[in-house]
Amino acid sequence: MRTTDTFPGVRWVGEPELFIRIDPKKCTGCGGCLKVCLAGCFEIVEKTARVRSLEWCMECSACWYVCPQDAVEFSWPKGGSGFHTRFG
Ligand code: SF4
Ligand code: SF4
Repeated sequence: MRTTDTFPGVRWVGEPELFIRIDPKKCTGCGGCLKVCLAGCFEIVEKTARVRSLEWCMECSACWYVCPQDAVEFSWPKGGSGFHTRFG
């Protein structure tokens, strides 16, 4: 279990792992996932998005939802139950 001052009210269950992947063959580098991700998980390298770090990922799935190319592969972390917030 961990918490952070950056996202008060959120606590994470389980360890970070690569449960989000970007298919470089589908990605056009539009930057949509970077803009929508509050946790700064992505970066653009050579016109293609890639996962920089999932350390602060809140599993909101916004990156998956916003991608116009269906390039984001999203799955829930193994062994964990996602995240909890005080908002429900
Ligand atoms: S939103 Fe999709 S197509 Fe756009 S940069 Fe991210 S992964 Fe690539
Ligand atoms: S699920 Fe949410 S927090 Fe995690 S990488 Fe996607 S947009 Fe960022």
